[in-house]
Amino acid sequence: MKTVTLPSGREVPALGLGTWKMGEDPRSRQREIAALQHGIDLGMTLIDTAEMYGEGGAEELIGEAIQGRRQQVFLVSKVYPHNATRRGAIAACQRSLRRLRVESIDLYLLHWRGSVPLSETLDTFAQLRQAGKIASFGVSNFDTSDMEESCGLAHGHGVETDQVLYNLTRRSVEHSLLPWLRHRHVPVMAYSPVEQGRLLRNPKLAGIAERRHASPAQIALAWLLAQPEVIAIPKSGDRKHVAENRAAVDIALTADELAALDRAFPRPQKPKPLEML
Ligand code: NAP
Repeated sequence: MKTVTLPSGREVPALGLGTWKMGEDPRSRQREIAALQHGIDLGMTLIDTAEMYGEGGAEELIGEAIQGRRQQVFLVSKVYPHNATRRGAIAACQRSLRRLRVESIDLYLLHWRGSVPLSETLDTFAQLRQAGKIASFGVSNFDTSDMEESCGLAHGHGVETDQVLYNLTRRSVEHSLLPWLRHRHVPVMAYSPVEQGRLLRNPKLAGIAERRHASPAQIALAWLLAQPEVIAIPKSGDRKHVAENRAAVDIALTADELAALDRAFPRPQKPKPLEML
């Protein structure tokens, strides 16, 4: 498995597992647990979740899926902005730990910026790290100006990742945010890497994939993984899709294929504010 090194020195897989929309429907529970376990078996041991997903349901599902294999996985969870006060984040983290059935979360993110002062949230993250409740922290949906602001704060340099919307159809981040992060060796975590499935129906992508005898999902993921310091976290509750996604790590796109993707999905000419899903 290709890995990416976080600023703390910790190596994590470049391809992980998303969990948004998991843990919401009891009828899909066993299928989702099996998909996560299959992903872990295949080396996709970074699992991304949030207190928001299924209002705790996704964390509970993960807690069950990783029973007996805590040491194999790298758990990422996120706190709601409205819970990101000193008291709120400590309590939210404690609830996430209970649902995940673990002693510590490996990487704890602020889900998006809200009205709580960033300095209070980052100070609290540092306190949680000190207490061993989390091993590291970061942010999500932060644009370049937010990253710059965090850098000026006491614990801003502790930020280990920025998790943002990034895929072939969402390339605006390449203008300023990605160069900013790369310059500081802060990896980006690309969420919705297959645009929640919509990208997979794109005829241009399908054509490029067909010529490579690969699936559209594999090409979309291989494109993200071809870039330095990018971690992609596709969500799938289907074992077959998980295995298909895992195989994307071993696809080295040729210069011609990369150029074809660039033509089919050009970077927007002008930067725009960071998009969110
Ligand atoms: P995504 O991973 O781009 O797409 C998920 C959808 O694609 C699901 O419907 C899944 O269906 C389908 N899919 C996945 N692999 C496939 C394959 N090989 N073939 C066919 N269909 C496939 O979208 P996402 O869930 O929005 O993003 C991924 C993760 O990023 C989330 O789960 C979450 O952990 C994180 N996220 C974070 C934020 C944030 O604000 N920080 C926002 C959005 C997402 P099946 O389940 O049927 O395979």
